[in-house]
Amino acid sequence: MATGRARIVDDIFKAIAQTRHPEKTLKQVVRLISDHLKTDVCSVYVYDPSNNRLALRETLGLSKRSVGAIEMDVSEGLTGLVIERMAPVFVVDPKTHPRFKYYANSGEEKFQTFLGLPLIYHQKVLGALVVQTISLEGITESDIPVFSNIAGQVAALIAYMGLLSEVSDKKDSTDILNSAASRTITKQQSDDRNGFLRGESIMDRLAEGYARFLPEHIDFDQIHMVAAAEPDIEEKRIHTAIKEAAEQIKRLALRGKEMSGQESAVIETHLMMLTDRSLKRKIIDRIRKGVIAEYALKKAVLEYAEKFSAMQDAYLKERATDILDIGRRVLAHLKGASEDPHEAFSRPTILIASDISPVDLLAIRQPNLKGIALTRGGKTSHTVILARSMEIPVVIGVERLLDIVRENDYLIVDGASGIVFVNPEPGIRAKYARRRGQHEKMQQELSLLRESEAVTLDGLRVRLGANIGLLSDVTLVKKYGADHIGLYRTEFPFLLRKTFPSEEEQTALYQKILSKAEGLSVTIRTFDVGGDKFLSYMAYPKEENPFLGWRSIRISLELENEFRTQIRSILRASSSGKTRMLFPMITSVEETRQVVSLVDIEKRILSRQGIPYDHEIKLGIMVEVPGTVPILHHILNYVDFISIGTNDLIQYLLAVDRNNQKVARLYNALHPSVIAVIDDIIRICKQQSKPVSICGEAASRLDCILLYIGMGADQISMTPSAVPAAKQFIRGIRKSEAEKTLKTVMEMEDAFDISKFLNKKVNK
Ligand code: PEP
Ligand code: MG
Repeated sequence: MATGRARIVDDIFKAIAQTRHPEKTLKQVVRLISDHLKTDVCSVYVYDPSNNRLALRETLGLSKRSVGAIEMDVSEGLTGLVIERMAPVFVVDPKTHPRFKYYANSGEEKFQTFLGLPLIYHQKVLGALVVQTISLEGITESDIPVFSNIAGQVAALIAYMGLLSEVSDKKDSTDILNSAASRTITKQQSDDRNGFLRGESIMDRLAEGYARFLPEHIDFDQIHMVAAAEPDIEEKRIHTAIKEAAEQIKRLALRGKEMSGQESAVIETHLMMLTDRSLKRKIIDRIRKGVIAEYALKKAVLEYAEKFSAMQDAYLKERATDILDIGRRVLAHLKGASEDPHEAFSRPTILIASDISPVDLLAIRQPNLKGIALTRGGKTSHTVILARSMEIPVVIGVERLLDIVRENDYLIVDGASGIVFVNPEPGIRAKYARRRGQHEKMQQELSLLRESEAVTLDGLRVRLGANIGLLSDVTLVKKYGADHIGLYRTEFPFLLRKTFPSEEEQTALYQKILSKAEGLSVTIRTFDVGGDKFLSYMAYPKEENPFLGWRSIRISLELENEFRTQIRSILRASSSGKTRMLFPMITSVEETRQVVSLVDIEKRILSRQGIPYDHEIKLGIMVEVPGTVPILHHILNYVDFISIGTNDLIQYLLAVDRNNQKVARLYNALHPSVIAVIDDIIRICKQQSKPVSICGEAASRLDCILLYIGMGADQISMTPSAVPAAKQFIRGIRKSEAEKTLKTVMEMEDAFDISKFLNKKVNK
């Protein structure tokens, strides 16, 4: 038996990977198993869940007449037991087993061993592979792993046969790319790749580099109809992309020895679907009608997926995801995406994707990552916040980015105007080189203000803080002359970790931040995970609205042990420097009492243990949910300070997802309600003599700063690089003028008028 093992898995894989006729391949596979592994019977049964029965589909060893004739309920026979258990069943001398069932004329009675393995695909049992030998030693327990591996491959073949029959049975009813549509392709829509694309501006920074796509982050909904300038080239592109995707899957499958049978079944079925001729034909037909390969692929794949989704059977319905996965893989290859997205970039690179998460950005961060262009994204998303602190220019909401840009295109990303230039001509490149020079000069001028204070012309001193997330950001705090750290987002350093950070690790990190801050006050915010920041080592429920769900303080209060560990770590670190402790997303007095009482408990424990900490440490909460405002006067009885989180406050107040590009237009810091609520918060805090700071992204906008100073704000914390411009601005205004401006704005009806009015004030 041992001799054939080494080759059998590869031989079966090759047979399946090259299949053109699945039925013939099944015969061939059964023969390969029998020959290589010296079995006397090798049979494949197919399970029909609609009647809970198994039918013999292919055999070598049993009478050929049994195919189609042997059928059984799963409650019968040893093969039925395999299905019931969804696990291998190995029996020596099967005749004596209580579940043995004899089928007349099958010839089964003479076999001394029975090994049955379930054929599983996406958690669904498709049938069973059964092998038997006449000799008692023909199969032993130790053979089960190799047969399980083979069963995974056979499952892939059976799944493919099932899926194939389902899609090809139905008439091709939805030829979406009809001739009318192809007539509407205009010159403007054609594949002209030397121009510019428009997105939303985020920051006044420029980047240049070569386009690089992130394979996991390219979605079909961002692909649109574009006429192909050269259809022959598009045909070649799709051939190559399919070939590369198939090679990639083959490599994955060969690594399948380390995978479970179920995982390799999914991979191999994908390979068969990918090399399926009818899918390729559909794509090529569309290309010949004059569209680019990406769009042709999208249409063909969505058509297949639609057919699966329309099926009654829940399992087949779900297979729509398989075809979409395959399609996305080919799309990634069309875009020239690298197989290993985390491989180091060898030259200045602009990352292109639909959207990426903060975790992905942290993972991919490297010196050659110069800029990011996204088709989606939100101005205050944590990805953008992180990119800002890493000083990487980002443009979001760039329409047609994925249609037009190709791997290796040279791009200029202009964060100030939100424009992405594709393969710009030398004149544009020269213009941008000049702009970069001007920007550097301006930065140098601003840096002269590093040691100066932000004081208005009539004497109000405004403390300008920095928002940070990583230890390296503390350097920026110094570089840009912030006078405190108004927000340290502690979840950022732990997003990439594989386990929850221990008390020692956290304490050491917070101490390092404090010591690097060299005496500046640091407001350490407890974990604010969930929403769009997920720790890989925590299980999150699948939620329809994560920003309204299990997020932030709600998670911390539920995971009390971990939360107390963090509180203890912050307390311990507090003996190393000026520390304040901040709790995010508080919505009630009850939550406030809970966090304060947990701090008290941990303080008592540390005191008992003789561990030093700042006994006078100030505790604060973030006001970022509108419901907190009417009860703020009660909450203030329990805490020492308030920090206004405008990013969340705006999204919750206006019911606009801060990460959703589709509604980005409605996300507005100058909406009259947002201004009124922030004014209320500051007034309530002042009435009760509690310090209040503003720390969302709006706090780095000069028009907002003007209003906040008018409201009496004297602590504002922002992304570090925004500090110099804010300082310069504040040094040129009067508080009394800001108050008047606020008064006028409070009378205005809508954000547009307010924005226009403030624009004049800020740019005068
Ligand atoms: C905010 O919501 O404004 C805030 C500062 O917190 P985060 O952006 O981390 O949600
Ligand atoms: Mg927030």
